[in-house]
Amino acid sequence: MSLKDQIEDVLHNVFGYKSFRNQQKDIIESVIGGRDVLTVIPTGGGKSLCYQIPAVVLSGTALVISPLISLMKDQVDQLLVNGIPAAFLNATQSGTEQQYIIQQYLNHSIKLLYISPERLAVSSFLSMIEQHPPSLIAIDEAHCISQWGHDFRPEYRQLNHLSMRFPKVPIIALTATADKMTQQDILHQLNLVDPLVVVRSFDRPNIRYTVVEKFNLTEQVVSFIETQKGNSGIVYCSSRSKVEDMTTRLVARGFSAMAYHAGLSPNERQMAQESFLKDNTQIIVATVAFGMGINKPNVRFVVHADCPRSIEAYYQETGRAGRDGVPAEAILLFNNKDLNWYQQQIAEKYDNEQKQVEQHKIEAMESFAQCMTCRRIVLLNYFGEHRTEPCNNCDICLYPPEQYDGLIDAQKVLSCVYRVEQRYGAQYIIDILRGSGRSQIKENGHHKLSVYGIGKEHSSDYWHSVIRQLIFLGYLHQNISTFVTLQLTENARPILKGEVSLKLAKPRLEIVKKSRLNRY
Ligand code: ADP
Ligand code: ZN
Repeated sequence: MSLKDQIEDVLHNVFGYKSFRNQQKDIIESVIGGRDVLTVIPTGGGKSLCYQIPAVVLSGTALVISPLISLMKDQVDQLLVNGIPAAFLNATQSGTEQQYIIQQYLNHSIKLLYISPERLAVSSFLSMIEQHPPSLIAIDEAHCISQWGHDFRPEYRQLNHLSMRFPKVPIIALTATADKMTQQDILHQLNLVDPLVVVRSFDRPNIRYTVVEKFNLTEQVVSFIETQKGNSGIVYCSSRSKVEDMTTRLVARGFSAMAYHAGLSPNERQMAQESFLKDNTQIIVATVAFGMGINKPNVRFVVHADCPRSIEAYYQETGRAGRDGVPAEAILLFNNKDLNWYQQQIAEKYDNEQKQVEQHKIEAMESFAQCMTCRRIVLLNYFGEHRTEPCNNCDICLYPPEQYDGLIDAQKVLSCVYRVEQRYGAQYIIDILRGSGRSQIKENGHHKLSVYGIGKEHSSDYWHSVIRQLIFLGYLHQNISTFVTLQLTENARPILKGEVSLKLAKPRLEIVKKSRLNRY
């Protein structure tokens, strides 16, 4: 059998896949041909296969260097399921166990051996593999070797002598994140010889990114899913109880939905997952626990009912939509409160250095959600992929934000807050502005105020948006005691006096409904 046929044969008959994705084939052929490779491929892009197929095809045993014990174990389990003998070595195993595994390496009864980078510092291990070189060396999470990367690990520095010690063994370095500088540094640190460098774009052009203000969660999610006409989708929430709550609400509204979170039994999780994969259930409502290793190509939408903690998480979760390349939607329902909550958690949980990193991630997520430029440009630049052309497939490109002279609107709201002595919340203020017949307003005599009914030309949602902006811009303050009341800040005075001008963003309430989902 020719090499090409052999590779195809392993793909079909060992891994059970129909065809290669993107550049997997080029990479695999290079490694088998003895050439070094660096691949930068986003998570879920199918990096593992790039060294697993060569490991199966080449004689001998491949060495895979991986930083996390849990990942090693998952990978080995997966290989064993596919009938490929593999093992890992780590410090938690007994001496006898380790000896047994090394024996398997020496007599080639395993095709892959996973180790941690620290293992290479053990001189007995190093001299053992020097006498019995592996068929190839795969370095997972290769960005950890570079200080330019975002996750430098000193123990990775031990890897820089591998190419000298094993000049005949192909080295394949794999990572999901490395900008140009980090890529150069990885090549330099590892001394890769005439390497094939494969960098796959982070862009997922078929995913349409949309961010909307969250103001009435259930109704917003329902009105969006109604446009989906039975398409599969995932709704992510930030906690187990929110998942349960959202599932109940969706089911009550007649949707086919199931919950998935770490608080359910393995059996319940399995059932939910399978039902979703088989298209028996339309919607999975889940925490971030859902998604790892799940490969459902026809997920048509991912809704974030709560804001993720980082752009990495957002990208990964939205990336579960549209794997088949057919148009898909990513909807983020955003409000500042979610992020404030994370900020509090960070303050309590992390030490100083970690605190800053986490803080930075949340700030990046916040600026993504609030940006006025093409979402895709912001996303890709975040991952070090320079882009300046607007994508024409995100909410900002399709429905450009409009500003208007918001002074009068602001004055209406602020003076209403003032007239009710800063003792009421947003809905009450809005009811007065819209001249509602709510009995509490009559009882309080507020229907006699000069501001009563001066905003009836706009919807309640419209005024909510104005109020949120005034809070965000620092003219109003939400005082949270027994109940939430709106209060004026010092900055409100010049607005009330009309001494300054004020631009507000036109409320973007219709965007979700305008999404182009009816096409499917
Ligand atoms: P990465 O390491 O890049 O995050 P993985 O190697 O874990 O990605 O692969 C992601 C998913 O894609 C896995 O579920 C894997 O089984 C699947 N996969 C990889 N290559 C192919 C392929 N050629 N055809 C179908 N599925 C694939
Ligand atoms: Zn865009």
